[in-house]
Amino acid sequence: MFKKILIANRGEIALRVIRACKELGLPTVAVYSTVDRESLHVFFADESVCIGPPTASESYLKPQRLIAAAEVTGADAIHPGYGFLAENSDFAEMCSMHGITFIGPRPETMILMGDKANAKKTMKAVGVPVLPGSEGVVAEVEEARRLAEAIGYPVIIKASAGGGGRGMRIVRSVDALESNFEMARAEAESSFGNGDLYIEKYLENPRHIEVQLLGLPGDQVFAFGERDCSIQRRHQKLIEESPSPVVSPALRKRLMEAAVEGARSVGYQSAGTIEFLLDSSSGDFYFMEMNTRIQVEHPVTELVTGHDLVKYQILAAAGQDLGLKNGDIRLKGHAIECRINAEDPEKNFLPAPGKITELHFPGGPGIRVDSHAFAGYSIPPNYDSLIAKLLSYGSDRSEALARMRRALDEMVVEGVETTIPMHKKILAHPEFIAGRATTGFLTQYMK
Ligand code: ADP
Repeated sequence: MFKKILIANRGEIALRVIRACKELGLPTVAVYSTVDRESLHVFFADESVCIGPPTASESYLKPQRLIAAAEVTGADAIHPGYGFLAENSDFAEMCSMHGITFIGPRPETMILMGDKANAKKTMKAVGVPVLPGSEGVVAEVEEARRLAEAIGYPVIIKASAGGGGRGMRIVRSVDALESNFEMARAEAESSFGNGDLYIEKYLENPRHIEVQLLGLPGDQVFAFGERDCSIQRRHQKLIEESPSPVVSPALRKRLMEAAVEGARSVGYQSAGTIEFLLDSSSGDFYFMEMNTRIQVEHPVTELVTGHDLVKYQILAAAGQDLGLKNGDIRLKGHAIECRINAEDPEKNFLPAPGKITELHFPGGPGIRVDSHAFAGYSIPPNYDSLIAKLLSYGSDRSEALARMRRALDEMVVEGVETTIPMHKKILAHPEFIAGRATTGFLTQYMK
């Protein structure tokens, strides 16, 4: 087992990892930028190290600082959380060069799956369904035009290095192709430092369905059911639930098999997620991308399966036998997560950082809150705007919904604008209640 774990992250995910470590009896090291000095993860960890100024590129994104912090504190493993360096293969390699275990997949897998155009090609080759589109990167607009003609409009241009819903352009006709191609390239270049683009068929109003996976040595890959993340703004998730209201047992079996096969074919280790788009009228689904890390919404799966995914990541990285068998993973009940962000839904979800003057978290049966916020906490403008992940669990979807509505009413966040009013509206909407909401829901109904 590890001697000590350094958490190369901040916010709620840093707390989440510290909690898992405490339950496993493992000492922890927090890292923080100067603006995070008063953060909960710093107080909850056994030790802490300041790694630089607020700018992420000078602190949480600076591999050398994190390795140095691990070395001075004697940490022999690093948990990267999500975001920042979680999917950076160079960082994972650097950890291993310094004799530190990176808690995540092997760097080779991160490279293979990190390039989305390449990942799609790899999945297609092993028979995982993908949307019609380019085979890998499209270099020239001429080629894009030819491909779009062949697959039929609308198409979507995506950044190969993309993430966080950025660098995507929907094109509905040939006259809009060239300008969008150039804009997508410029966006990809400036956001990701890599202008590579690929192109695929754009599905109108699909469901976003993803499968939680855990890869263990000996080519064992376990699937922990699906999450439906169709409620999105700007292609970013707002609400996630499990199970999906539109996934039948037969469809679930096909989704799990495809995801397990995909992950096994790349020798996947650690927790990861394969994201699919589902056409719920036909039941056809298509690989979109693989996230090679723990995700924001992993607690949804923890609630319906009763398994602790972060503990599994740590134990598996330490080479411990989890003793998991396929029959051990069963979905029971229903879970929903609402992301409570400091954002103004009235201003197109513009981040609204600031000081939280009053805060009250809901509780009672079936409620889980993962958060680093407290009354008096100032949300810095430097990082993402997540304040809390509010989760509800019920014996079925209607109980989970009722508990979530009740919890949203109990929750108080004063001082900053939040997504709470928007969540209340969504949870009261007949289409959402009926389980019919697709990725187009917000644009269709929440104008
Ligand atoms: P990111 O990595 O930036 O999150 P994804 O590839 O995971 O990007 O896509 C994010 C969201 O964008 C999806 O959940 C979906 O709503 C939308 N999207 C992506 N590709 C398509 C497509 N081909 N057709 C329709 N919607 C898409």
